[in-house]
Amino acid sequence: MAAPAPHSGPPGAAPPPRVQPRRQPPKQAPPAQQQPTGQPPPATPPPAPLLPAQLIAAIIAALGAALTAAQLVRLLAKIMALAGIGLLALRAVAVLMMSWPPDVLEGTGPAQRHAIRTNVTRRAQFMWSACKRVQAAIAAARSQGTPVLDAIAAALATEKRYMAQHIAASSQRVQASSAVDGAAEAYGNLLGWNSHLDSRTSAGCRLANGKNFYADRPPVVEGAPSLPGAVHPSCRCWPSAPFKGAPVMP
Ligand SMILES: [Zn+2]
Repeated sequence: MAAPAPHSGPPGAAPPPRVQPRRQPPKQAPPAQQQPTGQPPPATPPPAPLLPAQLIAAIIAALGAALTAAQLVRLLAKIMALAGIGLLALRAVAVLMMSWPPDVLEGTGPAQRHAIRTNVTRRAQFMWSACKRVQAAIAAARSQGTPVLDAIAAALATEKRYMAQHIAASSQRVQASSAVDGAAEAYGNLLGWNSHLDSRTSAGCRLANGKNFYADRPPVVEGAPSLPGAVHPSCRCWPSAPFKGAPVMP
């Protein structure tokens, strides 16, 4: 499985929803500031903080197992509490996650299988990011003395829009991967990358144009493993027979 990106925010226009859309590293307080000056470090180290990768793995498992929002909450309540997410935020996001249409679960070729794994990871990353954002909205409402339920409703409206972008990106990945698997059946595992070149072509797609790639190992384009047609929301790239003598993208 591809290493999960550190964070998944709303897919923006720039990098494709790939969702790498506004990913930011998880916020962590700089350890130096936590230590009162002049104090020696504690003799026993505090328990290791939860790693984002552990959380994402737990969320992937829970999303795969839960059939209802209540089950999802039950499966994740403990680990989310450790990560600073309260039940109010978790419940709100769990209900939202249940409206995510079921992912395609089986791929017919290597590129599709890769796209499906990516989608599963992205969905979990979105849930984690949404929990953090909704939790932040709740904290802000509490500190300002404004109604918490209103803050949750407003935050969820935003999350719904982000989720729609993620869903669109997921289905774009599956479509692009089907085209790649189809091309691989015709031409083999080594394929050519073609970009529609005009003033709207993104820098990454422009660079990839005319190079080759392996269908079962999506090359890194614009910062993430991508297939032609799914680098960003309006990607118009397509796979073809390999170009003779062209470099193979890593
Ligand atoms: Zn493109």
